[in-house]
Amino acid sequence: MLEKILIANRGEIALRILRACREMGIATVAVHSEADRDLKHVRLADESVCIGPASSTESYLNIPAIISAAEVTDSGAIHPGYGFLSENADFAERVESSGFAFIGPRAETIRLMGDKVSAKNAMIAAGVPCVPGSGGALGDDPDENMRLADKIGYPVIVKASGGGGGRGMRVVHTEGSLLSSIAVTKNEAKQFFANDAVYMEKYLEHPRHVEFQVLADTHGNAVCLGERDCSMQRRHQKVIEEAPALGITPEMRERMVQRLILACQEIGYRGAGTFEFLFENGEFFFMEMNTRLQVEHPVTEEVTGIDLVREQIRIAAGETLSIAQADVHINGHAIECRINAEDPVKFFPSPGTVSQYHAPGGPGIRVDTHLYSGYTVPQYYDSMIAKLIAHGPTREIAIARMRGALGEIVIDGIKTNIPLHIDLLSDAHFQKGGTNIHYLEKKLKNHP
Ligand code: ADP
Repeated sequence: MLEKILIANRGEIALRILRACREMGIATVAVHSEADRDLKHVRLADESVCIGPASSTESYLNIPAIISAAEVTDSGAIHPGYGFLSENADFAERVESSGFAFIGPRAETIRLMGDKVSAKNAMIAAGVPCVPGSGGALGDDPDENMRLADKIGYPVIVKASGGGGGRGMRVVHTEGSLLSSIAVTKNEAKQFFANDAVYMEKYLEHPRHVEFQVLADTHGNAVCLGERDCSMQRRHQKVIEEAPALGITPEMRERMVQRLILACQEIGYRGAGTFEFLFENGEFFFMEMNTRLQVEHPVTEEVTGIDLVREQIRIAAGETLSIAQADVHINGHAIECRINAEDPVKFFPSPGTVSQYHAPGGPGIRVDTHLYSGYTVPQYYDSMIAKLIAHGPTREIAIARMRGALGEIVIDGIKTNIPLHIDLLSDAHFQKGGTNIHYLEKKLKNHP
């Protein structure tokens, strides 16, 4: 087993990883920026190293500084968390070539799945259903591109192959705007992702976002821990997630589980990963794979009872998965609300000092957060400060527990989106379930 792990992240996820290490008797190294000396996990870690100034480019994205920190502390492995360097193939490569275990997939897998065109081609080859599309990057021939769009059928979406974070996408409703949209998206892609390859696919108008969690070890074993519904989004950012997804029958789930286990074996996947799909009219369409732990992993942990971070660490240590597919059972329902330090109406970030923090509790309530009374949320990073998770035997009970917890939690001194969550949890359409990816944006537009 690994003896010491360096946690190359911050905030709630760094604390989550630290807790898993402690439980497993593994020593921890926290790395932090100058603005993050007071982070809870920095205080709890066995050792800590300041890796640079507040700006993430100079700290949490600073590969040489992180590798040096691992060297001076004699760490055995690096856990990248999510965001920052977690899906950076060059980082994974550097970590391994410097003699540390990377708690994630092999660099070549990150590279394959990080490019949307190559990821889609790999999934088509593995028999995973994809959104119908151009089947590769678009060429320069305008007539050919017009023909392709006609064949796919309008509306289409032009997407940057190297895109991410909801950027580098353009929906095209009529053929009159196709060529200019391709040109603009290409330009943006070149500017933001240093890769001007774009592709085209059918734009689905009312889909839900349904994703499947997988785990694969280095001995050829893979399991799929079922799905999560993450359709409640604003600006392509998830706001509420839940597991399981409404309307997915055990037969549909089983079909996907079997396909995705094979896909993992096909691409030689290692570690925890998520296959993201759009789900419309009872059909799944692969969008992309996230080759890392996700923010919303707790809802899967709650309904399966499987600790994803523990499994990630065991896999990196070369051990076999502690569960087989037959051990995976979905128990009840779990919901997660992402709590952000932001204005609940205008969504501007709201950093500052938390004067009072009181955690909610009771049966089925889990809070993943690094907050404490007196903690100052810095302005430099993502605004997510807590994840509130409610688990219950049924969706109704999970919702009732979440409503109770949202009423109980106190975060004073800064603005948060808790009022938005309270509103959403009592929304009749959310309560009924199965709303599509446009629901929240429409609701906010109609009742700002
Ligand atoms: P990113 O890597 O930037 O997150 P994705 O490919 O995952 O990009 O797409 C992000 C979001 O964009 C999806 O969750 C969905 O809301 C929307 N989207 C992407 N492709 C399509 C499509 N073909 N049809 C409809 N919506 C889409």
